[in-house]
Amino acid sequence: MRSLLLCAIALPAFAGPLVIVDPGHGGNQTGAGSPTGAWEKDAALEISKLLKAELEAQLRATVKLTRSKDDNLSLHDRVDWANAQKPDLFISVHLNSMPTKKQRQSTEGIETYFLSAAASGDQAKKVAARENAEFHEKRPKGGDTLAFILADLQRSEAHADSSRLAYAVHEELVSATGGLDRGVQQAPFYVLMGLQAPAILVEVGFISHPDEGARLTDPEYQQKAAEAIARGVAAFVRQVAVREAK
Ligand SMILES: [Zn+2]
Repeated sequence: MRSLLLCAIALPAFAGPLVIVDPGHGGNQTGAGSPTGAWEKDAALEISKLLKAELEAQLRATVKLTRSKDDNLSLHDRVDWANAQKPDLFISVHLNSMPTKKQRQSTEGIETYFLSAAASGDQAKKVAARENAEFHEKRPKGGDTLAFILADLQRSEAHADSSRLAYAVHEELVSATGGLDRGVQQAPFYVLMGLQAPAILVEVGFISHPDEGARLTDPEYQQKAAEAIARGVAAFVRQVAVREAK
């Protein structure tokens, strides 16, 4: 009894990682739409809230959301605020979409991204272009900022860890949901730029697909996805702990 009690007292001293979870879009930036009229901004927020609870439960993480309700928030402000928190990890949650009716009916699956100067393919380039569309709201001064940040990133440990984090999360998410594996990809996402921590963007599925879109707005599926993303983060954190113990 006594040792149990001592254990319980000692537990709060263990500090889990500080994770920023970023629900994509919000307010009048709806993001992509589903065939039944659901919006990416709402499903991304629901999944992000569930992910926060899972990260707290599975990793004892401290989790902060860039937005916890239907707020407008520029990509620039998300990054600035996130960096000011000095997080260990940053995860942006989005849902994917296709431009034409034919593509919307046939395209589904999961893509997990980390930042790169060059997109890993045409589709990755298009996804980044769509997710970057809100960026013009508040452009930081200095035209070479992007080039500078990207050049710097290529040397940074955070970049290598972003890739490891992306693979760990992607593997768990695909295996838990049975979603189509569209791979870990790289693209120049503004919301991942300038972050001084490992950072990924998860396209949890295609909200534009009739079946997957319906699943993505189902609370049970959202919970399954959140649990899986958190397990991926936990696997990554264990990798880092093993590496740093050497
Ligand atoms: Zn999005």
